[in-house]
Amino acid sequence: MDYVLFGMQGSGKGTQGLILKKKFNLELFETGAVLRQLAEEKSPLGKKIKSIIQIGNLVPNEVVMETIENFMKHITQGKNVLFDGIPRKKDQAESFNTLMKRLQRNFKGIYIEISENEAMKRLSSRKMCKVCKTVYMGSFEQNQCEKCGNELIKRSDDTPESIKMRIENYKKETLPVIENYRHEEKLITINGEQSVDKVTEEILNKLENF
Ligand code: AMP
Repeated sequence: MDYVLFGMQGSGKGTQGLILKKKFNLELFETGAVLRQLAEEKSPLGKKIKSIIQIGNLVPNEVVMETIENFMKHITQGKNVLFDGIPRKKDQAESFNTLMKRLQRNFKGIYIEISENEAMKRLSSRKMCKVCKTVYMGSFEQNQCEKCGNELIKRSDDTPESIKMRIENYKKETLPVIENYRHEEKLITINGEQSVDKVTEEILNKLENF
């Protein structure tokens, strides 16, 4: 069984993704991270992606589907996958469902729910380790990673304008996708406004009975 993580920006998908990856020995497809890497390329496509990410818009579906198709070609046989950040809109959900069907893979959704206020609060104070990518929320003063000692940086797209755009896009494009999966009973809903450990505990408990 594969898993798909859903949740508003700042809901803790990345943090829970790393925990679940380790716990279930999953392959992780983190859409935003893959696209950020592509954006570093000096090609016209890299530059285009960079400008889209910077303003908080969604990257065109063809590009996203190409990255995921490519990823699926290289996963270790027999391993399950945890998808983070896809599908994010209706046409992408259709392409994603078609791809999963073609590859004969089943998936369950994990929706980490937080309020818009909480998301704004978390994103405007978010920092990330430059090297191990551990995320810190509400750590205005802290500049060094507790895990590896490297420097904490702000993500370049965590500007007030981009945060606003990403949340608007999420409400308009992604929430209907989540509602659809909920309707099809393919999804568990988790209260994301708890400690990291409690969120993990709720995910594990709910998955066990799902
Ligand atoms: P994230 O790391 O999930 O916050 O994603 C960072 C940025 O990558 C987003 O603001 C989008 O510009 C882009 N992105 C991530 N996932 C997708 C997706 N599924 N479809 C289109 N664009 C995406």
